[in-house]
Amino acid sequence: RPRAGIVVTGSELLTGAISDANGPWLARRLADLGFEVAHVVSAGDRPEDLVRALDFLAGAGVALIVTSGGLGPTADDLTAEVVAGFAGLDMVVDEDVRAQIDVILADWGARAGFAGPALDEATRKQATIPQGSTPLPPVGTAPGLVVDRPGGPLVVVLPGPPRELQGMWPSALEAPAFAALLATVPPAHPRLLRFFGLPESEIAATLREIEASTDVSGVEIGTCLRHSELEVDLRPRPGAEAVAEEVAREIVARHAGRLVSDVGATVDELLAQALLERGLTVATGESCTGGLLAGRLVDRAGSSAYVAGGVVAYSNEAKTALLDVPADMIETHGAVSPEVARALADGARRRFGADVGVGITGVAGPGGGTEAKPVGYVCFCVTTADGVVIARDPRLRGSRADIRERSVDTAMHLLLR
Ligand code: ATP
Ligand code: MG
Repeated sequence: RPRAGIVVTGSELLTGAISDANGPWLARRLADLGFEVAHVVSAGDRPEDLVRALDFLAGAGVALIVTSGGLGPTADDLTAEVVAGFAGLDMVVDEDVRAQIDVILADWGARAGFAGPALDEATRKQATIPQGSTPLPPVGTAPGLVVDRPGGPLVVVLPGPPRELQGMWPSALEAPAFAALLATVPPAHPRLLRFFGLPESEIAATLREIEASTDVSGVEIGTCLRHSELEVDLRPRPGAEAVAEEVAREIVARHAGRLVSDVGATVDELLAQALLERGLTVATGESCTGGLLAGRLVDRAGSSAYVAGGVVAYSNEAKTALLDVPADMIETHGAVSPEVARALADGARRRFGADVGVGITGVAGPGGGTEAKPVGYVCFCVTTADGVVIARDPRLRGSRADIRERSVDTAMHLLLR
């Protein structure tokens, strides 16, 4: 497979002020297109550091380099110039680009109430591009670039703000030089399996058994624990697609009970789809997760069709006053108990007139645990008007943040059942 490299630029990435969103996003896209991503490099705003990063990737033999950042109008935005130097091209003003930016900036200047020489200067800078490169239409104000110098790697230059970078990606793919390179890349055919409640050791054992009878050397198999799910990523090399398919089938057959999706769908997508299909609404009664579950549910556009509402009932008084959890139940069983989880679910369901209620109460820690109810002990309950009750009280691991996040993951999976 052809190899690719990514350079994310910006000193703010190296001071820790922001964390890189573009590297992982681009890496995923490139891998799915069939590239082997060899390196993701971060470089500061000094041009010489960007030059070194480009030289390093060229030395690593990549066919493609994608850069992010440094395309803006200010003096520290030097990516276009540096890439021109790297490709041995002169910088020239592109009149079409200039006209495009003029329109964008005139509109912006009119709204912001200023115009004049500073804007003209900014336009001129952003319209100056490596000679012979293909400009990509701006999503913000900066145009992207596809820079092709025969004999060297193709360089795709994209803006730093993730929204702009992602918005520009489709037009980069269509640029003639990039499209020509893509035509030579064997398709990836990735298969992503997701499991919930499956330990990594079990998958490892399964893979060992499969390897004993099948030659899987043509398939790259990665496993990764993410959002409490075990992801198994199968990427066949050209010619090994059938093997990958067979391995995927075998893994699924052995762990079908814990499969979430064999086509890479997320629990969020699947839950939304299931609720919409059945025309059901959900209400949440949350204690230790403090609204995180409701937040996760409404993260999706269109969630108003199936989310009725939610209550953060953190104190005992709130549980009783807002969700009708009997005070003597809390006294007898404790606020963290399967009984209270169920009462929270029922209370939320009734109060919101929803079809499904979910209750969560647990010990998020780091203090407050007891021997019977240690930190990480979390009680879940899902109830419906038809009397269906799904309850769990696992012991979750990790920090306070981990436990709260895993609680939300667990609740999402219980709801999906
Ligand atoms: P602008 O015209 O906004 O200056 P630019 O292409 O010059 O665009 P940068 O100056 O490098 O981009 O970055 C602008 C902002 O975009 C950064 O301050 C940061 O908030 C965001 N950003 C840049 N790169 C990344 C990244 N790799 N991950 C997440 N956010 C980023
Ligand atoms: Mg900038």
